[in-house]
Amino acid sequence: MKQVRASLGTLAVLGMELMLMDAPPTTAYLQIYTEQRCRANCLFCSQAKDSEGELKQIARGQYMPADLEEVVRRLGIAFEKGYLHRACIQTAMYPGMWEDTVHLIGRIRDTCSIPISLSVFPLDDMKYKTLAGMGVDQLVIPLDASTPELFLRIKGKGAEGPFTWDSHMDGLKRAADVFPYAGTHIIAGMGETDKEVVELVGRLHGMGINAALFVYTRLPGTREVNLVDTAPDIGHYRRVQIASYLLRHDLVQLDAMEFEGGNIIHFGLDEHDLEAVIEKGEAFMTTGCANCNRPYATETHYPIYNYPVAPDSGEINRIKQQIEM
Ligand code: SF4
Repeated sequence: MKQVRASLGTLAVLGMELMLMDAPPTTAYLQIYTEQRCRANCLFCSQAKDSEGELKQIARGQYMPADLEEVVRRLGIAFEKGYLHRACIQTAMYPGMWEDTVHLIGRIRDTCSIPISLSVFPLDDMKYKTLAGMGVDQLVIPLDASTPELFLRIKGKGAEGPFTWDSHMDGLKRAADVFPYAGTHIIAGMGETDKEVVELVGRLHGMGINAALFVYTRLPGTREVNLVDTAPDIGHYRRVQIASYLLRHDLVQLDAMEFEGGNIIHFGLDEHDLEAVIEKGEAFMTTGCANCNRPYATETHYPIYNYPVAPDSGEINRIKQQIEM
């Protein structure tokens, strides 16, 4: 494997692209290089077997092919200088994927000790141990869907894909026993309710699994996820961000929150404490592995769903209006 895909923002930090950025990535976003389509078939994914989307596209991110050795060399320098704090490797399901993954991780490790996250479908315990031994400290298995039914429709049989909810949950549980950190991604905006996302985030948190929030991004060439192609509801996303933040930081327990018709109507905090959480702004920032800010991975100019840097006071005011929506 002579090439690796790297997000445009990552290449800019590495000095291999020219880009003006108000929020440079703090993690290097990499993707295993292949010309093959993924054997899995998630409805929303540009690389899926039955998608006609571009292989370089992950959500809004453009992952451009680049020389692997040059990327790795510059990654070592960027890590030493403190520009990048983590490398995140995205994989796909294809013959040779394991060998390519191990090769890329090995080349990064030969060069520097940057912490490594790997996002992958469930693997066997032996492979988990091999990855942990090579220095992968954060393993992510994306559930994407917030309920088993939605999973079946967008990643499983309904999408003519190979995945099942149970094997993903099993893979996550096993990963939590091997890695210092196991995580997943949940995509909001695919027809789920506040309650469904929040209950899953709470359940996973209880299992020692961190759930990062994403928002659904319709990509050209991918198959339909929603019947109506509208931008994900910002009020829903803000409510889910606040509730997830409270659960993740053990500030409120799930059973203290109240829901009506699937929407959160009470966060389990008094007004004063809730206001303080909102004013702090952290709840609206990108979630995921340590030092992951994924700048503008799922948004165009407005609205910003996940802030890559702390929102300022003007943005907090806008967020307050969105919460009411
Ligand atoms: S949370 Fe960030 S660093 Fe971790 S797998 Fe997801 S994109 Fe990569």
